[in-house]
Amino acid sequence: MIQVDDPRYARQHVLRGFGRAGQERLAAARVLIVGAGGLGSPAALYLAAAGVGALTLVDADVVDLTNLHRQLLYGTRDVGRPKLDAARDRLQDVNPQVDVTTHHVRMNASNAFSLVQGHDVVIDATDNFPARYAINDACVALDTEFVYGSVARFQAQVSVFAAATGPCYRCLFPEAPALGAVPTCAEEGVLGVVPGIVGLHQALEAIKLITGIGTPLIGQLLLLDLLSNDSQRIALAKRDDCSVCSLVARSERQTSTLTTRTMTSPDITVTDLAARMARGDALTVLDVREQWEYDTAHLAGSVLIPLSTLADAVNTLNRDAAYVVLCHHGMRSEMAAGWMRAHGFSNVTNMIGGIDAWSTSVDTTVPRY
Ligand SMILES: [Zn+2]
Repeated sequence: MIQVDDPRYARQHVLRGFGRAGQERLAAARVLIVGAGGLGSPAALYLAAAGVGALTLVDADVVDLTNLHRQLLYGTRDVGRPKLDAARDRLQDVNPQVDVTTHHVRMNASNAFSLVQGHDVVIDATDNFPARYAINDACVALDTEFVYGSVARFQAQVSVFAAATGPCYRCLFPEAPALGAVPTCAEEGVLGVVPGIVGLHQALEAIKLITGIGTPLIGQLLLLDLLSNDSQRIALAKRDDCSVCSLVARSERQTSTLTTRTMTSPDITVTDLAARMARGDALTVLDVREQWEYDTAHLAGSVLIPLSTLADAVNTLNRDAAYVVLCHHGMRSEMAAGWMRAHGFSNVTNMIGGIDAWSTSVDTTVPRY
């Protein structure tokens, strides 16, 4: 039980624009954190310390030595323990006033609804698409905002989805990419600081949603390049034809139960693209990497529009033309393809695995980097 006047919150009380009223709102809040890894660790630690009344954690993993550089919820002596057992001990030490509930399960489409129910805000700290879509669909159905965060090497994304006035995750990415299309931290590596920063962004967005301070990232995608310190916010629109949050989808759902949806992918493999190009199909290969990457290696005939400039350049593109979007490994292009579909492009495909897959599977003369 949070004691709002406890001295541990004294520095927040004196903070103008936050004060005791903000503290009371935090104390009354119930936050669900899905995933207790690189993003969930900082989010849980700081939300507990800030005085969120109830924290629920969902994770089924065991602490591994390779987790410790980024998952500071755990220490060396926790290796081998279920994450949530170690997390509960640590969070109770950080702030014994917080009511911590743990669910040792993986979030999926069949349990998402019951796990989300009863929470004010959800933090998506997952590392896989089925869980992320499950969170999204349950949050839309339950009118619960969720804070999205993801990391790919030194690049990060943060947004707030499923708010009444903003889009949901499926408005941006209607379908999940094929399994393996997006490299994991295990495959690609990650510097521990990077998910630390993103998890704290998510914690801050949650505090903003709960207390009403500031402007949360509803309808906006924050893109961070933590190596160059470039950051930008892209405006996101709600899709009228979104299969989950559009008015039609909502009214249909009222007469049916939440169902597990099958995720067909709008992706193309590098070998299929090579075949289509060889056949002379009318399509434009749109490369959304940076100029230096394009200079290092690119597909003949491809058009370069770096992701950071796509929103500005969008009106130079034909919305009825066929585009295949590529990047280095398939993550930025997936984001670009989702964004384009949400902005009226009818025929956009994401190239799985990016130019790296092209170099290894189609044309080994294209340099890898
Ligand atoms: Zn939507």
